Amino acid sequence: MASDQGPWTIKKILTWTDNYFKSNEVDSPRLAAEILLSHCLDIRRLDLYLQHDRPLNPDELASFRGLIKRRIDREPVAYITGSRGFWESDFKVAPGVLIPRPDTEVLVEVALKVLGQKGDKPRRVLELGVGSGAVIVSLARSHPEWQCFACDLSLTALGVAASNAAMEPQCSNLSFVAGSWFSSFRPQAQFDLVVSNPPYIPSRDIETLQPEINRYEPLLALDGGPDGLDCVRTIMAEACDYLVPGGTLLLETGSDQREGVGQIFKNCPDFASIEFFNDYAGLHRVVKLEKKIANSKPL
Ligand code: GLN
Repeated sequence: MASDQGPWTIKKILTWTDNYFKSNEVDSPRLAAEILLSHCLDIRRLDLYLQHDRPLNPDELASFRGLIKRRIDREPVAYITGSRGFWESDFKVAPGVLIPRPDTEVLVEVALKVLGQKGDKPRRVLELGVGSGAVIVSLARSHPEWQCFACDLSLTALGVAASNAAMEPQCSNLSFVAGSWFSSFRPQAQFDLVVSNPPYIPSRDIETLQPEINRYEPLLALDGGPDGLDCVRTIMAEACDYLVPGGTLLLETGSDQREGVGQIFKNCPDFASIEFFNDYAGLHRVVKLEKKIANSKPL
């Protein structure tokens, strides 16, 4: 990186980085350049424009060069900056924890709607596989009267989720539980809502994902087995033991898994209904399953 005409100002280095990212086929090159430079200089993105003729000192240039190199190596911007915006907050993210996707905001939107329709009574909400905690922290902070539980197999994820909850003053209603799916809970009807964004990518598709995902994000949060639906099957088979009568299970799934989920539903006699929701790109993303009010099992 060399500037033949005067010092590297913010404006000049943004243009250079944008072009460099473009020639290396990095997604959203200008946006990435702005996010990384504002992170490096510890200023807002807006300040990059307000201070466009500010020259970078040698230390700033060296550290920005390091960030550019990481992005060229396909490390996701969110891992480089350590945070990602989701729903109404910024969430800390770290290697070992799935980066929250905009698609997953639909899960929060539907969860809030479902619980809103159930009336004012305080609710018990469980998220299985919380990752950064973006979903359950967003739900818990929106309703401090709900009792919320965050469960994950990964202690790294629970640590990140707990630090995200600690940054939200309204999140004292959230407890953390280590374990695989429902294994740490008693099978008694206790939750009004169980929500999950489980791994749902078919194993054979993992290596076809962008390098940002398959080289950096945790396989544990992505690989859903041969057809991608192993975890969905497990959760759907067990959920009714933990849901109150009329309780709801909400799952994020792949856009092409609607039919597969419909088939699994046919083998789950304790669910009364199934409904599908699209994400903001218009693709199938979330499935809502309601447990029957009366138990279908013979006494
Ligand atoms: N939506 C994620 C992706 O496309 C997958 C998340 C998941 O498997 N739960 O990479």
